[in-house]
Amino acid sequence: MGTRVPKSIADYSRFDIDVGVRCLACRRLAVFDAAEVMAFFATRQIPMTVPISTLPFVCRCGSKELQTIAVEKCCRPDPLPPKRPTLQPLYVQEAR
Ligand SMILES: [Zn+2]
Repeated sequence: MGTRVPKSIADYSRFDIDVGVRCLACRRLAVFDAAEVMAFFATRQIPMTVPISTLPFVCRCGSKELQTIAVEKCCRPDPLPPKRPTLQPLYVQEAR
């Protein structure tokens, strides 16, 4: 990856790098857009420094044994697979 060493998620965007989250249990790799990860982390006040926190991620296999890696944007498949729709609740009532 040359001499461009990202120090924060902002650098990922700047250097055209995607955020890869590798599951150490099943080896699945999920690749995220750095700008979207940055916005998500900002709302949750998760530090933006590298190594990127795996805290908010869970693998589809259920494992939280994850590792973040830098993936060059040029590795993206063309065309990208369609986004899986997600449904967010309007609000959640906690048990009292
Ligand atoms: Zn997994």
